[in-house]
Amino acid sequence: MGNPLTPKNKEKKRIVITPDEGEHHHDHSGGHHGHTHSPSSGTVEIKLEENFMERNKALARENLEFFEKHGIKTINILGSVGSGKTSLIEAISQKIASRRKEILVIAGDVTTTIDADRIAKHGVQTIQVNTGVECHLDAKLIQKALQSVDIDSVKIIIIENVGNLICPADFPLGSHLRLVVVSVTEGPWMIQKHPVMFHEADILVINKIDLAEVMEVDVDQLERDAKEINSNLVVFQTSIRKDIGVDEIIKHLGF
Ligand code: MG
Repeated sequence: MGNPLTPKNKEKKRIVITPDEGEHHHDHSGGHHGHTHSPSSGTVEIKLEENFMERNKALARENLEFFEKHGIKTINILGSVGSGKTSLIEAISQKIASRRKEILVIAGDVTTTIDADRIAKHGVQTIQVNTGVECHLDAKLIQKALQSVDIDSVKIIIIENVGNLICPADFPLGSHLRLVVVSVTEGPWMIQKHPVMFHEADILVINKIDLAEVMEVDVDQLERDAKEINSNLVVFQTSIRKDIGVDEIIKHLGF
């Protein structure tokens, strides 16, 4: 019998990482980083900040060296809000429960700890990174997150990036693999509209295929769209909720 005044779902202490004050310098005036909108012509001028991107790339290389040195396999999971990133991580955590002490999940989100709380229920070590105004994780935030864990027991790091198909594409984190999750509920054009995201990916998971008919989305066409952008993509058609295709992903990842 517990104390009746103690809330039932008393939250476990969650490590939450946030960017340092003034750490991010790139321009958000256009709504997305580095984009300047020109109202007169209705076009968008892309002005990426080279130094900022180069610095991130250098830190990502440092991260990769760190992972290699410690024998850690790292995967960066990207995709829109609601595509199934957290569900995939939950499913993997459940299916390889015997390895859960070796798994670290770094969950990126703008403000909430919803995903970290969901994942932590499966007994895997979870760190929440709240990016604030940023629409992506960066290599520096990963370094910061790693400082708060005992790395020696970790063999697998699964990073859930902030949910969108645009900004995270430009920011490598030093992971071995990039996995993008899309859902048929995002409609038929989400791949063609975000070529950079799929060009940089290693694995594509097309999720919620059980809803494809209702959504009138052709799953094989989505796969062809992705392969046209990146012929090296390994594609899985899944329904994570219905446990279709998840075992194949785990096998491919070698977990
Ligand atoms: Mg999520």
